Amino acid sequence: MIIILMRSPFAALAALAACALPLAGCGAPATPAPATDGGIRIVASFYPLQWLAGRVAGDGVDVASLTPKGAEPHDSELEISQVSALGDADLLVTLTGFQAAVDAAVEANPPKRLLDVGPIVGLEGEDPHFWLDPTRLAKAAAPIAEALGLADAAGAAGYEERAAAVAEELARLDAELAAGLAPFADAYLVTTHAAFNYFAERYGLNQVAVAGIDPEAEPTPARLTEVKRQLEGKPVKTVYFEEYASPKTAEALAADLGLATGRLNPIETDESGDYLAAMRQNLSELVQGLVRP
Ligand SMILES: [Zn+2]
Repeated sequence: MIIILMRSPFAALAALAACALPLAGCGAPATPAPATDGGIRIVASFYPLQWLAGRVAGDGVDVASLTPKGAEPHDSELEISQVSALGDADLLVTLTGFQAAVDAAVEANPPKRLLDVGPIVGLEGEDPHFWLDPTRLAKAAAPIAEALGLADAAGAAGYEERAAAVAEELARLDAELAAGLAPFADAYLVTTHAAFNYFAERYGLNQVAVAGIDPEAEPTPARLTEVKRQLEGKPVKTVYFEEYASPKTAEALAADLGLATGRLNPIETDESGDYLAAMRQNLSELVQGLVRP
């Protein structure tokens, strides 16, 4: 199933209304997303969706991201030029409900088509980090191809082919992760930001997260005490912190418990490196830092 919202007259009115307001940023020079060979403009709301849409769109096709360079997507603000360019996009691939600034921009300046991957990948509660389970990310490949084919019929066969190819690559990655982590079934994965729920669920680990889903949230002293109690006597040797986030909490907890620290990549920003390579790097960090229960 594919969910495509076409630009409605109401949305156009809303965009006009937004432009009548001062400080709305209307009239600022737009930086349109680069066009594909078929002349279509593709935008994604943050890195893993940008990566996947890029693989489906094909080599050399630039997919613009609405999350500013280097920023993590949880609380990101859009640049004015990104909001005004959104209306030129033939397709926006997004996770509705994750980034309030993106949802507001969609309302103010709707793209021609919008694909919300939420219902496709199967979100659990408020947790957005589905892309850390490659089988969930893979589910979005064919719908992206279908949406691109609607915008660019001449390219449809190519989109479909590349979607199948990237889904296969993700299946291979999944098999590697499953094999590599099989000896660690039921191990405790201690993280600072709770990004690894979907991952832990897929590969049979128990995530113990010090802070919540939002990486900015500082854990309370009560929460730290609770985590320490939870980990007492458990087979754990590593507290993982996130690449691009401060290791302070992890270091303090690790020092208290006499554990080492390790680094995991939640693959949220455009500086995460290639998705597949970053996932394999995470696997190697986990194989070194988890303890067989
Ligand atoms: Zn996150």
